[in-house]
Amino acid sequence: PTWLGVMGGGQLGRMFAQAAQQMGYQVVVLEPAADCPAGQVAQRLISADYTDGPALDELVAQCAAVTTEFENVPADSLARLAQQIFVAPNAAGVSVAQDRIAEKTFFVGCAEKSGVLPAPHKVIATQADIDAIGDDLLPGILKTVRMGYDGKGQVRVASREDVRAAFDSMGGVTCLLEKMLPLAYEISVLTARGVDGQSVVYPIAENVHRDGILFTTTVPGPNVTSACAKQAQAAATAIVAELGYVGVLCIEFFVLTDGTLVVNEMAPRPHNSGHYTMDACITSQFAQQVRAMARLPLGDCRQHSPAVMLNILGDVWFDGDTYREPAWDRVVALPGANLHLYGKDDPRPGRKMGHVTFVGHTLIDAQRQFEQACAILGIAP
Ligand code: ATP
Ligand code: MG
Ligand code: MG
Repeated sequence: PTWLGVMGGGQLGRMFAQAAQQMGYQVVVLEPAADCPAGQVAQRLISADYTDGPALDELVAQCAAVTTEFENVPADSLARLAQQIFVAPNAAGVSVAQDRIAEKTFFVGCAEKSGVLPAPHKVIATQADIDAIGDDLLPGILKTVRMGYDGKGQVRVASREDVRAAFDSMGGVTCLLEKMLPLAYEISVLTARGVDGQSVVYPIAENVHRDGILFTTTVPGPNVTSACAKQAQAAATAIVAELGYVGVLCIEFFVLTDGTLVVNEMAPRPHNSGHYTMDACITSQFAQQVRAMARLPLGDCRQHSPAVMLNILGDVWFDGDTYREPAWDRVVALPGANLHLYGKDDPRPGRKMGHVTFVGHTLIDAQRQFEQACAILGIAP
């Protein structure tokens, strides 16, 4: 059998492994934690740091190709692996997405080709940078340059004094100040590009966040106009081509109240907002990642059913202070419900534990079942 390797042992690695196994591959996971969602399902788990030399050598010896599920995997490790085996995505693509400054600079650099710009922004590394903030960037959001996710490492700021306090509270690490934009809604564009340079773009997904964490993804997006979809699709195709990227990449965009499309950030891997593809598209984002890294032709990304994806956070295990198992029997009894739990056994508020995707003949059908599920789980819809 052919082995594929994945750096990172979270739920994205788990769903990647399951897709790879369905296609007949064996999967080895490299992850420091001994118990992890991907390690539970993979044929082999190497419990070691992502920079561990002997562990990387083992991946090289065992695998035909290596991918990553963890956004912050050290790019140097990917580069080192790539000297001996095929790695997708490559270190260059991943390092751009790991660093908000590099990412914004890249977006500005390819704006002529993509037709979209990121939010106005400024690097904040020193007190002098704070003094020099123009009024046009306030109110804004101060974001750490590295490691932020799910809205962690972000503070909303209204004045230079706020920026100073927020900068200090983050320990003086380099940050990026972004102008706060008037969002009408948020979308993401899931793409995949093969070694041959051919790329595919999935349907535009509309995302709702709560407390900085993705709450739902709805496809087709109820607010997405065909003009917006066309523009986002063209922008995404230009961006992956410019990156010379191989693999699945998800790009987040804002649509402003005046209709302007703004590019926010990108994830060099399958993305939470692409989970609906498992139940609603011909080729899931995870199967697509397997194809890209195995240097196979990419799959058809057509959607066969309208879908609403609901993230299941640890909160639903708690009724006030009472801990209880959610009523999964009632959730899966809903027509079109597809439950995916990630095998994590310590639910905590805000922790991603699983998701449910509702598919239907019409979007209204799927939305109705989603509302029923919210009622069962005690979630405000
Ligand atoms: P993720 O988990 O998606 O990686 P993240 O922590 O990297 O999230 P962002 O995606 O940059 O952070 O921001 C999180 C959310 O905050 C956005 O989805 C959006 O709702 C809001 N937001 C971020 N930047 C802006 C902005 N410039 N103007 C208005 N809202 C914003
Ligand atoms: Mg992010
Ligand atoms: Mg984001």
